[in-house]
Amino acid sequence: TDAQARIEWVNDAFVRQTGYTLDEARGKTPDALLQGAETDRECAAKVLRNVRAGFGVRDVEMLHYAKSGQAYWVLLEMQPVRDALGNVVQYVHVEIDITARKRAEQEALRLNAELQASIAELEELNRQTRVVGALRDALQRCETLADIYAAACLHARSLIPGSSGALYAQAAGSKMDNLYLRQAAWGEARERAASLDADICGAIADGEPQRVHAGSPYAECEHVPAGFEGEYLCLPLVARGTILGALTMELPSDRPHGDAQWQLALTMAQHVSTAISDVKLRDLLRQQATRDPLTGLFNRRYLDDAIEREVHAAHRHGRPLTVCMLDIDHFKRINDSYGHDAGDVVLRTVAQSIAAQLRGEDFVCRFGGEEFVLVLPSARAEDVMPRMNALRHAVSALSIEHQGRVIGPVTVSIGVATLPQHADSAGALLREADRALYRAKDAGRNCVVSAAPDDDREFVRSLAREIL
Ligand code: GH3
Ligand code: MG
Ligand code: MG
Repeated sequence: TDAQARIEWVNDAFVRQTGYTLDEARGKTPDALLQGAETDRECAAKVLRNVRAGFGVRDVEMLHYAKSGQAYWVLLEMQPVRDALGNVVQYVHVEIDITARKRAEQEALRLNAELQASIAELEELNRQTRVVGALRDALQRCETLADIYAAACLHARSLIPGSSGALYAQAAGSKMDNLYLRQAAWGEARERAASLDADICGAIADGEPQRVHAGSPYAECEHVPAGFEGEYLCLPLVARGTILGALTMELPSDRPHGDAQWQLALTMAQHVSTAISDVKLRDLLRQQATRDPLTGLFNRRYLDDAIEREVHAAHRHGRPLTVCMLDIDHFKRINDSYGHDAGDVVLRTVAQSIAAQLRGEDFVCRFGGEEFVLVLPSARAEDVMPRMNALRHAVSALSIEHQGRVIGPVTVSIGVATLPQHADSAGALLREADRALYRAKDAGRNCVVSAAPDDDREFVRSLAREIL
């Protein structure tokens, strides 16, 4: 170029690279000729300032444009040529095409960014697997439904950071099928509705998880809190075809939430559903193993363990323990006269009547047939006798009907034995109560008899009470 940086001559390589002929280039400055839309203007201005000041520039990377519009990267050098007095008379402008290198660099940068993203993704997946595993382990350790609800909420926080939510399920023993109560919650959702009407929720009614975006038509769903912006998940808890409750989750709009979070929420709902169903099944099996199906009372298997426990406790604390053996009088006649079904109704009604008379620590079991065993911790025979007489009266006062026929009156005989007074082991206690029961039968039934050694006196006393 000349001293004003106007091109005087170009070589063949320049012509090939830029597409400009010498004639087209001559008289123009290289920047006017070669710079374009994406050239770094600031860098170009700096080059120009340096050149004008008479310093050269070298190793400057710049984006230039050929006549065709094709962009290419160059490594640029521009050095002044001076006369004997030191005045700049010309510039030598040299460009080396570095497009291939720049492309490779950019590709490396892109690959690196991609790699970083996959590493982050893998780390996130790894984290999710860990947290889901921790949730599953925690749920497996849960013994009760309350434990499950608490564990689920505790882990939800780390499973989906930034989320808040609540777990709804039917209250134990509730008769209202469509009302779900909040059992546990995390984050903001602790402030949300304490109950959830299952009828207004498609997710619960159909057992299909719903993903509601604020502003979508589903945002009409009454479960979405007023003014909530973000994503709202309504996930039914379903196991073995039964809807057990619902998990609601709020994902605020200020965090990126995508399909991964949705999948995680579904996974969580699945694990929680299975855990709830398992605990319910376990409870049912336990109940079936320890309960008599006809009366709902504990069965003999339960009694065997429970009475041993009570005997130990009584010995340890030096307190008495009373066992009563109760047998329905002439029950065979009831079966014979009214039928077996009527007998069952009597058994159920008497069982209910006994259970209604019990106090806190007491329990009753169906011992077999029409015999029941009552266990009364901390009570002595003499304290129990009046209560058993009251129970006997209550049973005989029952009005039991079956298919329009009044059955009865039903009477019971009761034998009473106390530890340590009459026996010192569970087996002996049951035996003594049974012997007392036989004496009650011998004495004409419909009475309460206490075991030996006080046996005779109590027997007389109890008979005397009857006669009076
Ligand atoms: P006692 O006053 O001496 O106790 O006379 P009982 O007739 O009550 O005694 P027994 O042991 O002779 O008869 C008991 C009857 O109870 C015989 C059995 O068929 C009946 N039984 C046992 N289990 C059930 C049951 O689950 N349902 C019905 N309906 N009857 C039962
Ligand atoms: Mg009987
Ligand atoms: Mg019997």
